[in-house]
Amino acid sequence: MKDLRKFYINGAWVDPVSTREMDIINPASETSIGKITLGDPEDVNRAVAAAKEAFVTYSQSDKQERLALLEKFLAIYNERFEDMAQAITAEMGAPISMSRDAQTDAGAGHLQAFIDAAKAQEDRVMLYNGDIMVREPIGVCGLITPWNWPMNQVALKVVPALASGCTCVLKPSEFTPVSAALYAEMLHDAGFPAGVFNLVNGDGPTAGATLSRHPDVQMISFTGSTRAGRAITIDAAETVKRVTLELGGKSPNLVFADCGDDLETRVRDSIAECFYNTGQSCDAPTRLLVERSCYSQVLDIAERAGREQALGDPASEGDHIGPLVSDIQFGRVQGHIERAVEQGVRLLCGGAGKPEGFETGYYVKPTIFADVSNDMPIAREEVFGPVLAIIPFDSEDEAIQIANDTPYGLAAYIQTGDNERAERVAAKLRAGAVHVNGGGMEYGTPFGGYKQSGNGREGGMLGLDDYQEVKTLHFG
Ligand code: NAD
Repeated sequence: MKDLRKFYINGAWVDPVSTREMDIINPASETSIGKITLGDPEDVNRAVAAAKEAFVTYSQSDKQERLALLEKFLAIYNERFEDMAQAITAEMGAPISMSRDAQTDAGAGHLQAFIDAAKAQEDRVMLYNGDIMVREPIGVCGLITPWNWPMNQVALKVVPALASGCTCVLKPSEFTPVSAALYAEMLHDAGFPAGVFNLVNGDGPTAGATLSRHPDVQMISFTGSTRAGRAITIDAAETVKRVTLELGGKSPNLVFADCGDDLETRVRDSIAECFYNTGQSCDAPTRLLVERSCYSQVLDIAERAGREQALGDPASEGDHIGPLVSDIQFGRVQGHIERAVEQGVRLLCGGAGKPEGFETGYYVKPTIFADVSNDMPIAREEVFGPVLAIIPFDSEDEAIQIANDTPYGLAAYIQTGDNERAERVAAKLRAGAVHVNGGGMEYGTPFGGYKQSGNGREGGMLGLDDYQEVKTLHFG
């Protein structure tokens, strides 16, 4: 493996100013797979200076040139697809089949969708009133990403920045630097000019905050916790830069008794979706709201599904789930489970402690709580592990009220045999995406949240907008 302690600045892998190092831990084996340097403010300043310099020419480049670079990059990404899947599995524990089919696939899928969106977007339009509007790149972008879907998040930020003619500094999560370094290598090989893309590793309060505060950074795109999103917004306020945020969630999943014969499938799929990526997805359906008339039946299905949930080594093929990303996340998830048990919440399966046979690695027991009331912490706080809270309801109106009674609004899910009900309920849910009966989302569809789940939309056409300024032209 290449020396991950270097940073990619101005087209070259350079020695950092900082000497602070951090081990990258494989969460299944708990062993170190390498070291990164945690960048100092001076490392970030150097990267921003390179991006600022490169912006002068790259911002004036022709869209066709940028599209050609992105097409080359896509070909390289696809050639090195397996390297990327292995990197993600090693650094964050996504089981290899899922790492290929979802985690790594997202990098290619979003890239293709942005190429299509950039081709379709008109850079110069005549407004309805006869005035002319042009789109221009916003400037140097600071991109801060989390560890849970590393390539998904990096692609959703880096690609629209580069497609729009912006230059950027990426600070990936300090827990997933291997995939980010590979991404930088691919961008280099695709031939992007020096300084257009820069990579600095580091922690949030030092490297991340330096980017947010930097006067030469015009835009910050952040994905991560609501806590860090608030800190970044405050840090960015002094220089009045644009800030887009993709934050946490506690997404409701409304199960209506009219699912009829599909109930078993709908509930099993719902639980699999909650546990997918070991529960480490911001839009995971973590509150299962169940109509009282099918409540006991759903508890029975849920308990069986929870007990049957397979765990396994991320290096093995299959549809099992792997460990959590880190010992920190392991401790947090254990804390959520322990507190709920102490508060007397009814445990259907799972619980605190490590699953049998998984003493090494940050594995947790797939856990389901029943008879939860929506004011309990287990229904309000984002756990970010394979933990589900089941809440009964008596009427459609009550289901909608409970669903919306959360500070978050990223996604919502509906299981029903009645499409009219699905439309009626979806219209009242305060969430950025509503999934009905297992419906998935295509690459290129805008993704983002209402309320404290964030304020931007990533992906496709709307995802380009965030990286662009609008200028109007008026000829006398
Ligand atoms: P985190 O907020 O701790 O870290 C995310 C990134 O922000 C990391 O790169 C980190 O170094 C950086 N960071 C942390 N504090 C910072 C600060 N004060 N200033 C600047 N940068 C800072 O989150 P995490 O633990 O890595 O990720 C999990 C969280 O991300 C969950 O809450 C999850 O819901 C959320 N998430 C949201 C989405 C979405 O699209 N809405 C997607 C993935 C994850």
